[in-house]
Amino acid sequence: MPIPRDDTTCALCGESTWIVLARAPESESDSDNDMIPEEAAGTSTRYPNPLDDAADVVPDDVVLHNCPSAHHFHWQCFLSHSEPETHCPACHVAIVPNDDDAKLLATIRNEGGQEDDFDLRPVLIEERLFATSPHLRTHAALCAACFTGDEASVLDILSSPSSSPAEITHLINTPDLDKHWTPLFYAAVSGRAGIVALLLNNGADPNVRDKFEHVPAEYASEEGHVEVLDLLRGARGVY
Ligand SMILES: [Zn+2]
Ligand SMILES: [Zn+2]
Repeated sequence: MPIPRDDTTCALCGESTWIVLARAPESESDSDNDMIPEEAAGTSTRYPNPLDDAADVVPDDVVLHNCPSAHHFHWQCFLSHSEPETHCPACHVAIVPNDDDAKLLATIRNEGGQEDDFDLRPVLIEERLFATSPHLRTHAALCAACFTGDEASVLDILSSPSSSPAEITHLINTPDLDKHWTPLFYAAVSGRAGIVALLLNNGADPNVRDKFEHVPAEYASEEGHVEVLDLLRGARGVY
């Protein structure tokens, strides 16, 4: 069910929380009525009047549950604010107790739909970590590409001209903060044999253990990824 349009604006940048979808003009076969009138576009073509039915828009909206003023934000505006992660960045009110387990609940609306009880706090903490340590963002991207089998992105990261081979090997053998998984765990558990080979050729350690004391081969075995298991066995000859 489509989300009803409203006229909310981001409390940080002041723009509408409805964003116009970019459309390829060639693919438009229907009538000119779909075009957004200049007047409706106001001062910004990115944010026409969201209540104009002709505008092809999606929401990009975060509403903090405990903010007394129910402030709205764009996802990116919210993630880049510098207020403590327990406070509303617009009214500066503490809306979450300063307790590690306390959740910063929000309703998130975007192209994919609506999620009502989304905890923003871990996302915000991770985002700040990435801002101070950019290599962690690269590491997270590498782990994600290993998991989804996105070999092109893995190659891109491993062949980055700004990193030396030693730095690449270090990146490959860095565990994540969650389960202490290196990229090899992500490739092994999801059966990405090509990526496993690539990682091993670039110095991935097949004997590394996660926080449960498991090695990547155990996950490949559990999931029945025979080809991956062969590669890992060949590389370590123990498991
Ligand atoms: Zn904004
Ligand atoms: Zn607020």
